[in-house]
Amino acid sequence: MSETIDTDICVIGAGSGGLSVAAGASQMGARTVLVERGAMGGDCLNYGCVPSKSLIAAAHAAQTIRTADAFGIKTAEPEIDRSGVRDHVRSVIAAIEPNDSQARFEGLGVRVIRESARFTGPAEIAAGEARIRAKYFVVATGSSPLVPPIPGLDETPHYTNETIFDLAEPIEHLVVIGGGPIGLELAQAHRRLGARVTVLEAATLMGKDDPEAAAIVLRRLAAEGVDLREGAKVTGSAKSADGVSVTIEKQDGGAETIAGSHLLVAVGRTPNIADLDLNVAGIEHDRRGITVDAHLKTTNRRVFAIGDVAGSPQFTHIAGYHAGLVIRQALFKLFWTKTDERIVPWVTYTDPELAQVGMREADAVEKLGQGKFTILRWSFEENDRAQAERETHGFVKLILDRKSRVVGATLVGARAGELLLPWALAVQERMKISKMAGVIAPYPTLSEASKRAAGSAFTEALFSERTRKIVRFLLRF
Ligand SMILES: Cc1cc2nc3c(=O)[nH]c(=O)nc-3n(C[C@H](O)[C@H](O)[C@H](O)COP(=O)(O)OP(=O)(O)OC[C@H]3O[C@@H](n4cnc5c(N)ncnc54)[C@H](O)[C@@H]3O)c2cc1C
Repeated sequence: MSETIDTDICVIGAGSGGLSVAAGASQMGARTVLVERGAMGGDCLNYGCVPSKSLIAAAHAAQTIRTADAFGIKTAEPEIDRSGVRDHVRSVIAAIEPNDSQARFEGLGVRVIRESARFTGPAEIAAGEARIRAKYFVVATGSSPLVPPIPGLDETPHYTNETIFDLAEPIEHLVVIGGGPIGLELAQAHRRLGARVTVLEAATLMGKDDPEAAAIVLRRLAAEGVDLREGAKVTGSAKSADGVSVTIEKQDGGAETIAGSHLLVAVGRTPNIADLDLNVAGIEHDRRGITVDAHLKTTNRRVFAIGDVAGSPQFTHIAGYHAGLVIRQALFKLFWTKTDERIVPWVTYTDPELAQVGMREADAVEKLGQGKFTILRWSFEENDRAQAERETHGFVKLILDRKSRVVGATLVGARAGELLLPWALAVQERMKISKMAGVIAPYPTLSEASKRAAGSAFTEALFSERTRKIVRFLLRF
């Protein structure tokens, strides 16, 4: 039987962004309805961050066994039980699932409706039998794997992030189309779990990252045996007796066919907007997603769009950040609150990890101008903890503006993602580098590399002839 619900906030999509809005809004006193058509938790919990990081952890365990020789520990090649790995991934999801569950949200006072939502007017949606009218709608419907129009791909068995984590069979040779963060994280993980892996990238591998940092990651992947092909445009694919065959056009114009047992497509994301009937509500959109302004408002003044469906950058923490901005506006009427793309951090969870916040070197050249910024660096080779752990590849690279404020940081190395937070704060607060140089870093930690990079801003002045003269003068008294 149809029901009409009047509410303050109606959130469409129970993924990273939608859940944060719903939990916050309801606990702050707003009547909140949450509509979800699939699994609670969205991509991050079910097909994205959580399974991928769990798989990476399993792969890391295997690699630790392989590389233990360096520590004087004799080991054999680890035996990989793919169904055991699959069960590990599933059990991590199961452990986190209660946080995102319908029961938890209903306990917080949210009305949860498990249906597909679509707009029926500028201030109303339909979700199954229900009609929901709200003061504000928040579209948080996320994105799906983009499957490109490669001739033959429809008939070629292939995996995406929505299916690959369910694989429990041994993988002989995984061919990955796409050399971005998702493709490379999964490529390295599968390689470490015993598969041959070939990555095909039409443009540049890790093309959005600092090239110097990306080179360190790519060198490690190649050393571990991942076959990395840059400038390799996939022109066709087919099912074969042994699995799949993929044809590429190479940079020199030649063609090559690569045979694999499994094919993973990881070329990008497409926004989940097709079923929303956005036009009925006057909400503009294009192939990148819903058009929003800096306040995350759509062209319909009572509708916000957040997270992946609002375009890039597409990360769980950005969906969460967006959720906070929407709550401030919808509940507290702080309509001047807006997004600040300057402060967006991201991490690629390969080993070594690549972590970035603020400007990359190329951004600094473009935005500040050549010669108008300073670069500071410290290598993990100069870090005692990294030496002890035999994880010396990588560096901390900082970008300072002319007032010695931190405007960007690129870290590549073991656990670089864990080292990023102080730099995210520094960029956000436009902190002067002297603050980080003055901090006491516990010894021996990888964090010391950050402090030493910061301290290097003062090395030249500190150990200059002028300083020596001053010191010699003062020591006379
Ligand atoms: C393999 C992989 C690894 C990743 N790793 C990371 C990582 O390490 N760190 C990171 O920050 N990000 C990572 N991401 C990105 C991250 O998963 C997304 O940025 C994040 O999930 C986006 O959150 P969201 O709320 O916008 O959308 P989602 O979490 O995708 O949620 C959208 C929800 O809306 C629902 N929905 C869609 N349409 C409708 C409709 N019409 N009616 C009702 N419900 C609907 C969907 O079913 C879904 O549950 C990864 C992504 C992938 C694919």
